[in-house]
Amino acid sequence: MAHSWSFSRLGDFEKCKKYFWLKHEQKIPEPERALRPGQTEHANDRGSRIHDNCELYVRGDHDALCAEADKHFGAKIDLLRIMYEDGMVELEGNWGHDEDWEIAEWSAAWLRLKLDVLVNVSPTEAIVIDYKSGKKWGNEVKHAQQLQLYALCTFLRNPHLEVVDAELWYLDVNETTRQTFTRQQALMFKRSFDKRGTAVTMCTTWPPSANKFSCQWCLYGPEHSGHCAEGVRKK
Ligand code: SF4
Repeated sequence: MAHSWSFSRLGDFEKCKKYFWLKHEQKIPEPERALRPGQTEHANDRGSRIHDNCELYVRGDHDALCAEADKHFGAKIDLLRIMYEDGMVELEGNWGHDEDWEIAEWSAAWLRLKLDVLVNVSPTEAIVIDYKSGKKWGNEVKHAQQLQLYALCTFLRNPHLEVVDAELWYLDVNETTRQTFTRQQALMFKRSFDKRGTAVTMCTTWPPSANKFSCQWCLYGPEHSGHCAEGVRKK
């Protein structure tokens, strides 16, 4: 049984239980995908580099913002840096909750959430921000649910808040997805996430969900590492 879940783990679980088991329970490293012609780093490495740079820059520990973040969002990130100096911004929060959704230590948490930026706008209003590298198209539903979970946990951890703006900053494509939640609206998502998170942490069987959509990207399939023999082949 999985000890904890996160938003990305939930996605892996709901895509294919066997994939989840191989990646998170057996902890088998996914084989590296070959770089495409002209590509100089893997998408995950690139995303981590950009995230780390943004954090260090806003914190004031780094003097230069990387080109990818600066291109469209430089002015906004500069503003975060100023607000951080003024004590209005919290960075890289590692948020843990237990099964009752109470605040818990990260190491023992049932739900773990990593937050890029929290802006305390006023005693009753906050903005949560997640930096996104890569494409927006095709991820709309998943990302809308991520905003709901962020907003829910922000309210649970901050009883004084009445309004939370949850934002995704798509650094590469100069787009922002924003949803505004009242406390009452965000708390309505708790039941559904509780059910889905419990399904992850109570699961004891890991059948494959072989279909061409999940398997085409899976590096454990028969055409890649071969850890899953049931995956759908391209050819
Ligand atoms: S190849 Fe398909 S069925 Fe097998 S683990 Fe990956 S996604 Fe699941």
